[in-house]
Amino acid sequence: MYIFHKSSDLKDYLGKQKAAGIKSGFVPTMGALHSGHISLVSQSKAENGLTVCSIFVNPTQFNDAGDLAKYPRTTEEDIALLTAADCDVLFLPEVDEVYPEGQQLKEHYDLGYIETVLDGAYRPGHFQGVAQVVEQLLRLTAPDRLYLGQKDYQQCMVLKRLIEIKKLPVELRIVPTSREADGLAMSSRNRRLTEPQRALAGLIYQCLISIQVKKNMQTFAIVEKECRDILEKKGFKPDYIQLADANTLELLTDYSPDREMVALIAAFIGDVRLIDNLVL
Ligand code: AMP
Repeated sequence: MYIFHKSSDLKDYLGKQKAAGIKSGFVPTMGALHSGHISLVSQSKAENGLTVCSIFVNPTQFNDAGDLAKYPRTTEEDIALLTAADCDVLFLPEVDEVYPEGQQLKEHYDLGYIETVLDGAYRPGHFQGVAQVVEQLLRLTAPDRLYLGQKDYQQCMVLKRLIEIKKLPVELRIVPTSREADGLAMSSRNRRLTEPQRALAGLIYQCLISIQVKKNMQTFAIVEKECRDILEKKGFKPDYIQLADANTLELLTDYSPDREMVALIAAFIGDVRLIDNLVL
């Protein structure tokens, strides 16, 4: 696996591969890699001649400085995992390489409604930072396909919108969520859970399943309250337990059988904020 630290070196190398007609897939990550990330790499490898992964903990998408400081960094293990997965290229830049002109946003991205709800409401500025870094990384890597995880459902919608408004010539591929045996969505943040917290964390997925199972039996208000009570009793602090239209993220107050729906949960356990979702 080639490892590039400098944007110019990466651009030169990838430019040559493109000129040789090789199709490439790009997997942007913030590191602390797990099998979920690797499933994106594997799908890219199956669909492209060249797979590029980036590891960059993007400061501009953290609205909480403490969260940024505590974000796990495990570069040596990450390199070992990517090497074992036969990833072709790793981009491992410092902040200045990604933002040579400084971290301030050059423009406000017109992300529309999707930026205002759910995580957009709880993490102001977060999706602007996500759009900023992904646009920058896409311009550097110029891939044919971009691989994102469904685990970050709203992020996928934001980046779909970014691709549309910026007319970026890339195909978006969304990869299903990889889960632990108890259903917990794999996440770099799971490393920060204590043992007792980890033992409880699967409850978030159980709540999503119960929202799915009860869709023809009860109103969503009742199911939402049951889930909230269960989570709160175990010490979680839910930001939201929400039903939405799977295509627009329009928030739904009740099950709507004529629509494709997604259930989304964000909850703190201690100071670790976990998110998950399930398309019903
Ligand atoms: P992150 O390093 O958390 O920024 O994630 C990098 C990419 O991996 C994003 O597209 C995530 O949605 C994706 N990802 C994270 N966790 C999972 C998972 N459990 N299953 C599938 N994809 C994931």
